[in-house]
Amino acid sequence: MKLILRGHHLLCLKGFQGYGYDDAFVENMIEVNALRKSEGTVITLTDFPDDICKACPNLENNICGNPAQNERIVSMDNEVLKKLDPGKEYDASDLFEKIDSIFNSKESVTKICFNCMWHEKCLFYQKLSENR
Ligand code: SF4
Repeated sequence: MKLILRGHHLLCLKGFQGYGYDDAFVENMIEVNALRKSEGTVITLTDFPDDICKACPNLENNICGNPAQNERIVSMDNEVLKKLDPGKEYDASDLFEKIDSIFNSKESVTKICFNCMWHEKCLFYQKLSENR
């Protein structure tokens, strides 16, 4: 199975515990989160709308929210993508192991997550905050 994921969503998936914008979004997020844990799944990376955005009520004309918000989201993606090889097709479990080793402190995600409305609900961000 193949997934397309934008950079910052690799962190969101690590912290997902069932919250989202609406029921359809959460249902899709659960599906994507299960797929990324399935053996044989391969992931390509992007800073455009992805397999999570496709079920999001904030996506309009391929833009997240509004131009200013979209720009902020793309820069979050690029903060993650610059630590990876965006042209590569990754085995999902290898990719998430890499994510764990790169983003392993609160400082390592601060620039990406500090402005996110979900950071209080995000298990990944909370765990890194506790490890300080
Ligand atoms: S459209 Fe925006 S808010 Fe919705 S999932 Fe994509 S990046 Fe997140």
